[in-house]
Amino acid sequence: MMRMDVLTLFPEMFEGVFQSSILGKASDKGLVALNAINFRDYAGNKHGTVDDTPYGGGGGMVLKPDPIFHAVEDLLSRSGAEATTKAPRIILMCPQGETFTQRKAEELAQEEHLIFICGHYEGYDERIREHLVTDELSIGDYVLTGGEIPAMTVIDSVTRLLPGVLGNETSAITDSFSTGLLEYPHYTRPVEFRDWKVPDILLSGHHANIEIWRRREALRRTWQRRPDLLEHLELSKDDMAWLKQLEDQIEQ
Ligand code: SAM
Repeated sequence: MMRMDVLTLFPEMFEGVFQSSILGKASDKGLVALNAINFRDYAGNKHGTVDDTPYGGGGGMVLKPDPIFHAVEDLLSRSGAEATTKAPRIILMCPQGETFTQRKAEELAQEEHLIFICGHYEGYDERIREHLVTDELSIGDYVLTGGEIPAMTVIDSVTRLLPGVLGNETSAITDSFSTGLLEYPHYTRPVEFRDWKVPDILLSGHHANIEIWRRREALRRTWQRRPDLLEHLELSKDDMAWLKQLEDQIEQ
């Protein structure tokens, strides 16, 4: 079973997220173990102090190294006792880290144990970055107040890739980015809503043609919205012919 531990000063933020919807069901089924741990418990002083002013002056508070090192080391000694075969990945949530992607989610879903460190305030003592973590992850080029929402984002996207978590096993396979493309459009009942009709092909029952339509629509959407994704993709002859057709339509 995959285990994910989060070191945070606000473990209560994770209660709803870990217990609801697909994450809650995955935990109940024993497919994943999700824990939020308050690293203030490892402060080692009676005031529970986990931060201090920066050396060199300036504004903001910096998270001290000792509580975070102690919390991680405690987790490592316990996971050692459980004899997991792989060393855990220790992931610092940080706007300066590698940008999180579906590829990274797929990579992390192969692990047995992930430990997330959520910052707050100005930043972390640099020794955490240099001597403790295996990865630094950012969820995008913007700054949040803390690492909790970024950690939830990563945990959610990794959990849904674990075997048995999604009811329909195929639904993660065709997701945007999993195929390298944005996903094709979806329709459901009614066939006609305010004069807007579902494309005939989807009502035809011809599965091979529906698959061709979906591939083409995924290519069209990616070409329109995220052409950068196409640069890294191996395209078939049919794909290339379709893209050429789309480009020619623009030129006309
Ligand atoms: N002073 C830091 C900097 O300029 O890089 C930003 C600190 S931010 C206010 C506080 C914490 O929120 C960070 O330590 C990190 O854990 C989290 N955080 C903020 N934005 C993030 C992002 N885009 N991705 C991941 N974590 C983020």
